[in-house]
Amino acid sequence: MEEKLRRLREILREVYALRRSAALLWWDQATKMPPGGAAGRGEQLATLGRLAHERFTSEEVGELLEALAPVAKEMPYDSDEAALIRVTKRLYERETRKPAEFVARLARHTSESYAVWRRARPENDFVAVAPYLERSLELGRELAGFYEHEHIADPLIAESDYGMNTKRVRKLFSELREALVPLVAEITEKPPVDDSCLLKELPAQEQLAFAAEMVSHFGYDFSSGRQDLTAHPFAVKVSTPQDVRITTRIRPGDLRDPLFSTLHEAGHGMYEQGIDQNLAWTPLDRGASAGLHESQSRLWENVVGRSRECWEHFLPRLKERFPGHFDGVSLEEFHRAINKVERSLIRTDADEVTYNLHVILRFDFEVAMLEGDLEVRDLPEAWRGRMREDLGIEPPDDRDGVLQDAHWYDGIVGGKFQGYSLGNIMGAQLYAAALEAHPEVPEEISRGNFGTLHGWLKENVYRHGSKYTSEEILEHATGSGITTEPYLEYLRGKYTEIYDL
Ligand code: ZN
Repeated sequence: MEEKLRRLREILREVYALRRSAALLWWDQATKMPPGGAAGRGEQLATLGRLAHERFTSEEVGELLEALAPVAKEMPYDSDEAALIRVTKRLYERETRKPAEFVARLARHTSESYAVWRRARPENDFVAVAPYLERSLELGRELAGFYEHEHIADPLIAESDYGMNTKRVRKLFSELREALVPLVAEITEKPPVDDSCLLKELPAQEQLAFAAEMVSHFGYDFSSGRQDLTAHPFAVKVSTPQDVRITTRIRPGDLRDPLFSTLHEAGHGMYEQGIDQNLAWTPLDRGASAGLHESQSRLWENVVGRSRECWEHFLPRLKERFPGHFDGVSLEEFHRAINKVERSLIRTDADEVTYNLHVILRFDFEVAMLEGDLEVRDLPEAWRGRMREDLGIEPPDDRDGVLQDAHWYDGIVGGKFQGYSLGNIMGAQLYAAALEAHPEVPEEISRGNFGTLHGWLKENVYRHGSKYTSEEILEHATGSGITTEPYLEYLRGKYTEIYDL
């Protein structure tokens, strides 16, 4: 058995060396590659992807897992070996159930559909993408069909949020929606917050440097990471926890975008950097689910990064770095400005309170389309209606409506959005648990000390990687499964104070 486990590890090492090399090439494509490199890069990525897939889904891996699975059941559940066998088996089964012909067809569809969407969005041309969206929906249904399921969306949700299903997400999201629609209405009846103190033309390099200063205080380790500019910010592991990179973008005239997108990506980055080094080159060396990953990005971006305590420490530093720009700005004014709530059209720009309503709309529509209750051709109208109902505004066109996110045009329809709001919910639960263990955290944050919080998260979440499911991690760390209460309490408390509700 020792020998079989050694051999499994050896193969996984190769698979992950290939996959992380592909991630490095992908990072290069997004940050450094000249436009002329695109075709060659496509070929390199396709080759690495195919080699990794073939290696991982080989008969040898199947035989090793079959021999090792009964042994793993005898081992302590918490051991790295048992987790390695358990998780590898789950991924192996998932990968081998997809026929190679389907994978190739999906890849072809994805690149065509994405290219059509790239042109259609600026031209506000839903008609052009509609047939591709139909196809994405059919492919989603076909993919779900490879797995046993209660609800057709379940396997698609499980792809990124293993352990979750349609029924549970629906319940959580209806609790959120019921609480948030009236909260948004209540807030937007109040006089709007003045956020003009944030709208400053600042040198781009200095903005990046300031954001980097903040995240290195948080605990993002630049000796195992770096920051570059891209059109769409992301975080990526290119080998082991010792090389996890983040990217950001600059939007002239608004400090918020580069700053908070950096805090967000650093949250993802710290999670990946914090995974136990012993788990490197295995499927365990990554965050446990999309939702749990997002819990970390949103925790550092919003719960910490938009807190009064955080800016008690950083506002004087901001003033120092940008002399003359923030001189008369009080902590109160700054804190209100970075937490401004408004009815807006674009999910990725939305504030903490309205954000989930954008996500829930997309989740509900995905499920309705998969169920056959919503036709693709009726989607733009349904979108406008739901925006009116939940957010009180309506997009003037499809560009800022149904065409705004790449997700449905970049693969299948299904399971693409729930992680964003599950992350908000879990992030608040984890923060509440950290405060219970260490009530001194807010006070420490106001002095620029994030070590206790970062250490608690590393100990309770990060180091485990994918050894456990996200819900097992949550239960261990907080003593409870996923529940909306702490998140709703956090939002109500914070915004009651800011908006004097
Ligand atoms: Zn994220």
